[in-house]
Amino acid sequence: MIVLGITGGIGSGKTTAAGYLRSLGFACVDADQIGRELTAEGSPLLEILDREFGPDGKYGRGTAILRDSSIEGIKILDRKALASVVFSDEKARARFDEIIHSRMLRIIREQIEELRKKENIRGILLDAPLMYEAGCDTMCDHVILVTAPVELRIERVMKRDGSTREDVVRRINSQMSDEEKARLADFVVDNSGDTDELCRKLDEIVEGLNK
Ligand code: ATP
Repeated sequence: MIVLGITGGIGSGKTTAAGYLRSLGFACVDADQIGRELTAEGSPLLEILDREFGPDGKYGRGTAILRDSSIEGIKILDRKALASVVFSDEKARARFDEIIHSRMLRIIREQIEELRKKENIRGILLDAPLMYEAGCDTMCDHVILVTAPVELRIERVMKRDGSTREDVVRRINSQMSDEEKARLADFVVDNSGDTDELCRKLDEIVEGLNK
């Protein structure tokens, strides 16, 4: 069964594209969702993160990254605090990626293997914003990169999330560039048109896969 990867920078339209591919019968593995579950309330990984990035951790900056939840003894990750520690130092970022990505890849692999047993699906879609950074591309037969001009992406995200321009620009700048990703991708879909155009381009790719 084919494993199709989809990726793209913030606001490029990969969630919109993934939604359309799901409607065509692809079953989706959502890498972001897996990442969120790994760091969810009470997850055992939180202790490991605290040891590395917490106030006394090797990469710590004296900032608490865990908070108490309403359930006694259960901790919640303070994502903003963790981001301030991890994004301020390249070595911390590399260590964080190593911890998260290895676990994420294992779960993705397990989910793909489960989906391979299904008969009534058209293929498996791996939706991974950090496709190349996390090494998810090794699990895909083909990767589609969704792109759009940076200014359009900023506008779309500001409209969608109500975030500030500075915030979106900062997030875009923290990611691998589209140029780099385009060199690695099998298909590059320009999403600067409307959503119908995006869907038509995806149709063409999917039809091409069946030939
Ligand atoms: P993120 O990485 O931030 O999750 P994303 O790449 O998944 O973003 P989407 O959420 O799919 O991007 O798209 C960003 C916003 O732009 C959404 O509000 C979406 O509805 C809108 N959008 C996506 N594609 C188009 C399009 N072709 N025309 C108009 N709006 C679009």
